[in-house]
Amino acid sequence: MGKPSPHILKETIRAQAKQLGFGLCGFTTCDPPAHRATYEAWLTAGRHGAMAYLATERARRTRADPRRLMPACQTIIVLGCLYAPPLPPTDDPLGGRVAAYALGDDYHDLLPAMARRLAESITAQVDAPLEWRAVSDTAPLLEREIGQRAGLGWIGKNGMLISPQRGSYFVLAELLISLDLPPDPPFESNRCGSCRRCLDACPTACLLPDRTLDATRCISYLTIENRGDIPEALRHGIGRWAFGCDICQEVCPWNVRFAGPAPSSPLAARRHFPLRDLRAELLADEAALAARFRRSPLRRAKRAGWMRNLIIALGNTGRPEALQALERALADADPLLRRHAAWALGQIGGTSAGRMVGEALEAETDAETRAALRHALDHLARAAAR
Ligand code: SF4
Ligand code: SF4
Repeated sequence: MGKPSPHILKETIRAQAKQLGFGLCGFTTCDPPAHRATYEAWLTAGRHGAMAYLATERARRTRADPRRLMPACQTIIVLGCLYAPPLPPTDDPLGGRVAAYALGDDYHDLLPAMARRLAESITAQVDAPLEWRAVSDTAPLLEREIGQRAGLGWIGKNGMLISPQRGSYFVLAELLISLDLPPDPPFESNRCGSCRRCLDACPTACLLPDRTLDATRCISYLTIENRGDIPEALRHGIGRWAFGCDICQEVCPWNVRFAGPAPSSPLAARRHFPLRDLRAELLADEAALAARFRRSPLRRAKRAGWMRNLIIALGNTGRPEALQALERALADADPLLRRHAAWALGQIGGTSAGRMVGEALEAETDAETRAALRHALDHLARAAAR
């Protein structure tokens, strides 16, 4: 039996990708992305916030030419792994939310391994040595644009790649391979039309007209990538999101209509979600926190970021039942957490909150945290006078 034709091989690869757990699979060239100037302008405007790794000279050059990642690359196989839509907000008054992609195991670990298995299977079929490289958000590639070029969907006004059959609840991986396969036709149409639901629903108004977003205002960035204090003006908009945000995907009609359960997804949710009680998370000991982080995307926020987010979410509940847990955070060794706890207590208000913040101010030695405590006391006094 001779070697399969490139077209037959391509369809075989697509079927194998599906068997491996990739619900979406498309093929494109290694050519430079056409819209990299938009991305460069985004970087120049500082919309990437503290994600300095996106703006290094090396990252910029690689993004402009995927062959820099693998000079022998002839085809990029773009793979999408579906995950289940977000869990609805819990009715629990002290409950919180986590972005749907983060409810299961970390795709940064899983997807390259799945793509590697696909590469091994392709190598066996062509019976010739091949070079390949598997990435999933682990190399500077304009993944969504490359996905659009591979025919998977269009980039919506929410900045997500949207599949007309599956919506946008999927994460991408790319397999760069030294095998010449016929590219799929790019997805040329834009099916957002006059819809602007995502723009209207975004709590921090960070979606921009050129289909990018101002990361420095986006809840996903603020709760995951941002390591320090979250600007006070943005804390209310975070609501009860403890990690990431799905709002601009939840409202998208393409998800409402087409996204469905993904029970066999390698990214299927683990059993200890949703977050029914943010206090329990905040009071978790080291062992419980380690269990929460194990193999989970949540670990990206690290202890400080995760606890900071829980504190903000608790402040946004406005519930006095949160006071005790926040008082514990007010005594945390990390001043970042003490500052955010002061803010959260200020949001809940009342004499107990005032006493807690006042006592903490007497003991506090860190200048920045003292200022946050004073600010919270002022806020409490103003609220009491109303
Ligand atoms: S993830 Fe949330 S904050 Fe970020 S753009 Fe979407 S709706 Fe806005
Ligand atoms: S909500 Fe509407 S405008 Fe936003 S991405 Fe979806 S279809 Fe496009």
